[in-house]
Amino acid sequence: MGLNLFKKKEKTEEKNKVQEIDLTTCKYPTENCALCNKPGCDKKWGGQYWHKKCLRSAKGMAKGMI
Ligand SMILES: [Zn+2]
Repeated sequence: MGLNLFKKKEKTEEKNKVQEIDLTTCKYPTENCALCNKPGCDKKWGGQYWHKKCLRSAKGMAKGMI
């Protein structure tokens, strides 16, 4: 039973790893993204930190508002 529990946990961690952003390659690994609130940002814009893709969509949204 204990072994099963361990195996389950390992699988979950592996899954999380895939979804996680690679913090070793980003410019601001400790800053949370202004859009998705996850760490590992690459860009600073408007006084906030962003992932490249999040900044792109944020800029697109700003454009749509004007
Ligand atoms: Zn983001």
